[in-house]
Amino acid sequence: MQVIKTAAKMKEASTHLKKSQKSVGYVPTMGYLHEGHLSLVEKAKRENDIVVMSIFVNPLQFGPGEDFDSYPRDVNRDIQLAEEAGVELLFLPSAAEMYRENHAVSVSVNGRTDVLCGRTRPGHFDGVATVLTKLFSIIAPDKAYFGMKDAQQVAVVDALIHDFFMDVELVASKTIREKDGLAKSSRNINLSPIERDQAPYIYQSLQAGAAMIEQGERDPKAVISAVLAHLEAAGGNVEYVECYSYPELKKQDVLSGKIIIAAAVKYSKARLIDNIVLTIS
Ligand code: AMP
Repeated sequence: MQVIKTAAKMKEASTHLKKSQKSVGYVPTMGYLHEGHLSLVEKAKRENDIVVMSIFVNPLQFGPGEDFDSYPRDVNRDIQLAEEAGVELLFLPSAAEMYRENHAVSVSVNGRTDVLCGRTRPGHFDGVATVLTKLFSIIAPDKAYFGMKDAQQVAVVDALIHDFFMDVELVASKTIREKDGLAKSSRNINLSPIERDQAPYIYQSLQAGAAMIEQGERDPKAVISAVLAHLEAAGGNVEYVECYSYPELKKQDVLSGKIIIAAAVKYSKARLIDNIVLTIS
């Protein structure tokens, strides 16, 4: 595996891959790798000649008072895990490389962000869209792999690629979970032992909501109330429980079609999100 730290070198490598007609699957991450990230690598390996991963904790997508400083990092361990997973090129830029002095342009996301994390983390998806526009432009992948754990991110990337006519195919992959149902997340390491015991109730609560829909409930308010009631067992502070069409993220009076039930819970040192996307036939 080759580790590349500058945009110029990464561009050189991707130009070379294009010339040799190798298809490139790209997995963007913020590191502290776990099986969720590695499942994206596995999928990318099956579907492409070469897998590129990036690890970059993007300061632009963290708001004031959020966990940029305490976001878990362990680059040496990540390099080893990426290599073992079969990543061929690992792009590890610094913040100074991605945001050079006097950088003047950023991307502003206007849709799909007035709800869920977009509402509670203003500017977050502008940061995500800006860094991905840079990374896509440097790496020029054929396909880019994202986890449905961050379903709103998938919805925003879908819009970014569509609106900017980007030549990359978005592949969204299922959420990988711990045995007790907790969605794998780099942030889980920042849960206290008690919080770690409580956190699986987030997914259980969402499942309770999904079960109601499967049994015929079509009122989003009823579903949200039930999820909120179950979430009491999850401790923490519930930031939101919301239910929308997916991927448009529009409010529905009567649930129909593809929908998302999503929740965010704040613990003492970690904020966790999870969701279930299901199709009502
Ligand atoms: P992050 O490093 O948290 O920014 O995540 C990098 C990519 O991995 C994103 O596309 C995430 O949605 C995805 N990801 C994170 N956790 C999981 C998980 N538990 N299952 C599947 N994909 C995940």
